[in-house]
Amino acid sequence: MHVERCTSFKTFQSVFDSRPKDGKMREMNVKSLSIDEIESFLSDLGEPRFRARQVVHWLFVNGAETFDQMTNLPLKLRSRLAELLTISVPSIVSKRSMDGGLTVKYLFEFAGGDEVETVLMHRPWGRTVCVSSQVGCRMGCRFCASGKGGLIRNLSPGEMYDQVLFMKKDTGLRPSHVVLMGTGEPFDNLKNTLRFLKTVTHPATLGIGARHITVSTCGVVPGIKALAEIGLQVGLAVSIHAPNDRLRDRLVPVNRRYPLHSLIEACREFYAKTGRRITFEYTLIAGENDGAGEARGLAELLKGLPCHINLIPLNRVTDRPFEATPPDRVQRFKKILEQEGLVVTSRREVGGEITAACGQLRSNYREPYRMITKSDFAKQV
Ligand code: SAH
Repeated sequence: MHVERCTSFKTFQSVFDSRPKDGKMREMNVKSLSIDEIESFLSDLGEPRFRARQVVHWLFVNGAETFDQMTNLPLKLRSRLAELLTISVPSIVSKRSMDGGLTVKYLFEFAGGDEVETVLMHRPWGRTVCVSSQVGCRMGCRFCASGKGGLIRNLSPGEMYDQVLFMKKDTGLRPSHVVLMGTGEPFDNLKNTLRFLKTVTHPATLGIGARHITVSTCGVVPGIKALAEIGLQVGLAVSIHAPNDRLRDRLVPVNRRYPLHSLIEACREFYAKTGRRITFEYTLIAGENDGAGEARGLAELLKGLPCHINLIPLNRVTDRPFEATPPDRVQRFKKILEQEGLVVTSRREVGGEITAACGQLRSNYREPYRMITKSDFAKQV
């Protein structure tokens, strides 16, 4: 990509937060540009507005991989665009079905060789894509595999979009819901996450309804505030996991930076601005955060905040000492919350969300099911 030739693009380079410190461009995906930017780019080339719409449709709906595939565009324009812009195409490393095909886990390789996982969940209400926002993660939640190797890099808006687009290509069906609950902390990659949200909800793209999108955070307060401001009806999920700072500081270290009082205040503001009830995710860990005292503490903490609590059974992660709470204790925890007037679901009961991969997305992570390598994949297909 010849960025210097895109003179009208003041913002062009700043888009790519994925650029490493050495300044080398790893990825210059045209899908990281906003729809408005693509439109003004084509208008700068002297093209009428309908051309921009055609290009956007090819890129964001049809998933064109080259400009040559854009057969309703004049040949001259196709080669001009190919000179100026790059379309990134993730390559698929492996694809693995779970739950009898209801959940499918994809491993992609993006520019620079970075690998990222995406999960597709077929559910009665549609098809939910669980999107990763970073390669690795630096939040260091004690029970989560994704953060084990630290943060490698942020994903660009285009790379997040590509994960959703690929699901349409692979299944022939448009995904109906998106959850930012894969690897990474979306609000640690805020600018790119917000750009992605604007693109994926734009009617000229796959146009996923904002109300069908949920962003999950471990509690990065500035991100919650920013999400409340963008004017989209996107849902918020907060991985709370503990009712007091002492415990939360240990399980979710970002709490030391944004303690519970600031987190809950940001959630109240979010509700006030968007009118959207917040989901609190609570992973139950045996003997750590699953006692009656913690249940009552959680009810006290969330009092008066319109919300819904989702209890997640812990998925085992190797070389982490934690065990899942046994089912009878899950029920006890749930009952206390309900007695306090809270709305509670437990993931396994509703079967509605990812049951097999939460906290286990880590591309080179091999337990409890082995991640297929490239050479295995070659053998399989
Ligand atoms: N960084 C974001 C989104 C990714 S994690 C966040 O923290 O919300 C998606 C959910 O899985 C979070 O609620 C996370 O705390 C939870 N999780 C992490 N490790 C887990 C594990 N081993 N078992 C069950 N849930 C886990």
